[in-house]
Amino acid sequence: MNVLVINSGSSSIKYQLIDMTTEKSLCSGLVERIGEGMGKLTHKIKPDTDAEEKIVLEQAFANHVEGMKKVVDLITDAEKGVIADKGEIYAVGHRVLLGGEEIKQSVQIDEWAKGIIRDYIPLGPLHNPANLAGIEVAEELFPHAPSVGVFDTEFHQTMPKKAYLYPLPYDLYKTLRIRRYGFHGTSHRYITKKTAQFLDKPLDQLNIITCHLGNGCSMAAVKNGQCVDTTMGITPLEGLMMGTRCGDIDPALVPFLMEKKGWSGAEIDNVMNKQSGLKGICGMNDMRDIHAAREKGDEMAELAFQMFVYRIRKYIGSFAVVVGKLDAIVFTAGIGENDDFLRAAVCKDMDILGIDIDETVNAKRSGQARHIGKPGQRVPVLVVPTNEELEIAQTTVAVLNGKN
Ligand code: ADP
Repeated sequence: MNVLVINSGSSSIKYQLIDMTTEKSLCSGLVERIGEGMGKLTHKIKPDTDAEEKIVLEQAFANHVEGMKKVVDLITDAEKGVIADKGEIYAVGHRVLLGGEEIKQSVQIDEWAKGIIRDYIPLGPLHNPANLAGIEVAEELFPHAPSVGVFDTEFHQTMPKKAYLYPLPYDLYKTLRIRRYGFHGTSHRYITKKTAQFLDKPLDQLNIITCHLGNGCSMAAVKNGQCVDTTMGITPLEGLMMGTRCGDIDPALVPFLMEKKGWSGAEIDNVMNKQSGLKGICGMNDMRDIHAAREKGDEMAELAFQMFVYRIRKYIGSFAVVVGKLDAIVFTAGIGENDDFLRAAVCKDMDILGIDIDETVNAKRSGQARHIGKPGQRVPVLVVPTNEELEIAQTTVAVLNGKN
């Protein structure tokens, strides 16, 4: 049984075809620059295995349907294809950014669900229309396969009101649905379930802090297996310092910058989302480049790194208090999984929480969930690799079986 996972952006489609009997990826890829002069399709057969094979095509894709048609050609190709016919796709799982308060769980896509995704376009102006486009592509190209929407905001729906409300006039919440929604929910949920399995603890008794550190970064406070707080807000800009996003700042800076720099709201949005964070401080947003520069004595790279670490530490402290007692602190995503130097810096001098990293195990690389703390510490520290596509595929099957 194969599930196609689609993450549709405004000019791109990320996809992965997963065989649910083995939970292995048959192929994955990215269609980029849709609707632009020259597009690009990168297709990987058996990705991340020794047998990985990559096909790159450069051609124009007028729209998402055209891009996805080419993907279907590759997937079903007589020689290089991984399935014989698109009828072998059992279902399509879609990553959707924002389901608001109405969608508390993943759902089979119908007119109601599409209406909700449409309703939340004002709060997710880039992603929600693109996610809808992906759904429409699937409906057109795979009419036999049901579509399931898996929402980035879902896992955070259990946050209490005191955590998700902004202390703004309450009317803004009632009329404009202004509140904190949180994102990366698929990853935080996957990590939470994996951690429960790894520690052999019932999910509903698990108390952890999850740190998803990639280009986008967010953390979740998980109490009894449920999210009780997260760092991102009404948009993915709030919270931690990120690759190019500023995270928490004083909101009074917005009118100040409007006045001093003459910037419009859109310009400020661009600066805060695309020119800030690590990039804003040192000009680089890839953590590997920042380490290379730091090691050569680049002071701004060092400062960017220290600020990034400091803000993670502040949130660990605050979430530890929110959760009350901790079974683990868990690192995941590109930086969280691969950067042992950063993990050590984050966990340094944290006697207050009973954390101590073991340098040798921390430095070991592995694609498996693992302990990186010294034995006998009060709070274990773990690395648990995330797999958002697999989580979406599993959820898709669960929804269609009525077991989500
Ligand atoms: P996205 O949010 O786009 O899914 P990823 O989870 O892939 O991002 O994370 C991308 C980040 O991970 C980049 O900043 C990259 O530098 C960082 N990264 C990847 N590998 C390493 C590594 N070995 N050491 C440090 N950082 C790494």
